[in-house]
Amino acid sequence: MRTIIEPFRVKSVEPIRQTTREQREHALGEAGWNLFGLSSDDVLIVLLTDSGTGAMSSEQWAALMRGDESYAGARSFHRFESVVKDLTGFEYVIPTHQGRAAERILFSELVRDGHVVPNNTHFDTTRANVEYQGGEARDLIMPEHRDLHVEAPFKGDLDIEALEATIAEFGAEQVPLVTVTVTDNSGGGQPVSLANLRAVREVCDRHGLPFFLDAARFAENAWFIVQREPGQGDRHPRDVAREMFRMADGCWISLKKDGLANIGGVLAMNDPDLAERCRATLILTEGFPTYGGLAGRDLEALAQGLVEVTEPDYLAYRVRTAEYLAELAWNAGVPTVRPPGGHAVYLDAKGLLPHIPPHELPAQALACELYLTGGVRGVEIGTLMFGRPQPDGAPDTPSRHELVRLALPRRTYTQSHIDYVGEVIEDVALRAEQLRGLRIVSQPRFLRHFTAQLEPLTDGSAS
Ligand SMILES: *Cc1c(COP(=O)(O)O)cnc(C)c1O
Repeated sequence: MRTIIEPFRVKSVEPIRQTTREQREHALGEAGWNLFGLSSDDVLIVLLTDSGTGAMSSEQWAALMRGDESYAGARSFHRFESVVKDLTGFEYVIPTHQGRAAERILFSELVRDGHVVPNNTHFDTTRANVEYQGGEARDLIMPEHRDLHVEAPFKGDLDIEALEATIAEFGAEQVPLVTVTVTDNSGGGQPVSLANLRAVREVCDRHGLPFFLDAARFAENAWFIVQREPGQGDRHPRDVAREMFRMADGCWISLKKDGLANIGGVLAMNDPDLAERCRATLILTEGFPTYGGLAGRDLEALAQGLVEVTEPDYLAYRVRTAEYLAELAWNAGVPTVRPPGGHAVYLDAKGLLPHIPPHELPAQALACELYLTGGVRGVEIGTLMFGRPQPDGAPDTPSRHELVRLALPRRTYTQSHIDYVGEVIEDVALRAEQLRGLRIVSQPRFLRHFTAQLEPLTDGSAS
């Protein structure tokens, strides 16, 4: 059979609301042309993020009822701990309320002024937590993989030569840990190969450095390894995931992604002293070590989710959804980051809208038009997010890329939803030349993309 079907049937439904273009124009105007400002009731298809937005299985809902809400030593913790231990092989398992809490706890123990933390591509909360401790977060992706359109199987691989050079530049004592993000979220959801993880392990061994995985999408990464890495095609993705974790000394995971639940995180490691220090901080900010900011029922849902997420049928459907949406965009003449990642499709607004300069926010213009046309909510990753205003009122410094990320919630939308999104993209692409940029009316000092107020430029109005 040609069609890869959703490997589930629907047991509970959540209605979504159709709106007219006029209603959406009104809503977007009220929101200051910022998609973060919309009420979710005014959105038809939400592709803002794949974090915490997935659907739980019937087994996970059943597991909620088994939640043991005891403050200390809860049964639910032991179930969670044994699933995480079996998956990762790490001795010490510390639950947190989400991924960034694990980052904050780990980096507050390890990172100091003058340190450098190498990673393939830091996720933004990871970078912020390294920098908050006074460290430098250094991205070491292969130079040839920075090209959005180059086809390569493992564009998330860390540049081993650059890692060696960074260690030589700072001295090993200034490198508190080496980290690799699987898949590399900020780089487009690109996977990291087993061979690359092995090479990182070897460098860490030679310099006596701890190696941690930022493993939010470990299952998608494992699936890409099965599909793409020579000699791995016959393996079960869970077996590959177990090998990935066993290459490292520890990990943190935002379980809002491949934990298949709406909240949760975990920090796990083999070093007993470090684990004890992390637990002390955990008690200060998250909670007792057997719940760490989560309810017992959350731990149960996560334990079940962590088992389901490596099922081959699920992963085949998951990764195929992103590929399929990328194909629809390509067929509509909209370039995307290649190859598509596991969790999202990134539309290249620079390629589609060459007539809109970066300071007129082409990716935001595209994101807004996708909403106005079909009620689809993606997110701009471009000059609105990364550009910086200039003191003399000159145009903002441009971002390197102008992308719209369409992130796919797990097990939430069906093929007809994706077909619909493809039609919306096609409709917008046919009118690409008529799209106009936007002007920032007001913005906060930090993280402006969340709250900035914008207005559309009309023909003749300059910015
Ligand atoms: C989401 C994410 C985080 C942060 O986790 P939260 O659960 O959002 O706090 C860290 N790293 C990566 C790679 C992520 O995708």
